[in-house]
Amino acid sequence: MGESLSTKIETIKVCHALLQNPKFLSLLLQIDTELAAQMRARGCPCGGSLHRADYPRKPRACPKEVRHAFDSRLSFCCGQCRKRYTCASVRFLGRRVYLGLVVLLASVRRAKLSASALQVVHMLAVPERTVARWRSWWLQIFPSTPLWRAGCARFIPAVAHEHLPHSLIERFQGDPAHCLVHLLAFLSPLSVPR
Ligand SMILES: [Zn+2]
Repeated sequence: MGESLSTKIETIKVCHALLQNPKFLSLLLQIDTELAAQMRARGCPCGGSLHRADYPRKPRACPKEVRHAFDSRLSFCCGQCRKRYTCASVRFLGRRVYLGLVVLLASVRRAKLSASALQVVHMLAVPERTVARWRSWWLQIFPSTPLWRAGCARFIPAVAHEHLPHSLIERFQGDPAHCLVHLLAFLSPLSVPR
């Protein structure tokens, strides 16, 4: 994907600063709001219109100044058949209470991080047990998800599963914000219950 190895490695090293960047975290809410608007515009196949029925969230490892941007999961309910529609999200990854970005970046092997990235991870104070569970999800569950089975072929050469999620992050191009937005958008279908 065209970028030099040193640029890729640099991207991994500076991504973590975004975990504490209110502007970047607010951008994720804007993207989710847009995804929700698209879902609402499509409506329900039964012909009914969709009404907001968000789920409250108590996000963990979320900076105080942007907590309001992560305190609910956008969702709809059909006014006619009552079916529930939860929107794909770049803010959350599945039902986890931590921000999706935290699940992604805190799972990167410590040896791959710069001193400042390590400091950010340390400040998040995610219990080691939780990080270990996320790592085993990346290594054992993620590769067999329909999303990855359908999408992995677009990465040439193949992404090394044993180095996930680090090996995936370094495949997304551009500055760290750009790289992470695109990666979170790629992962967003995983945020919806199957
Ligand atoms: Zn309906």
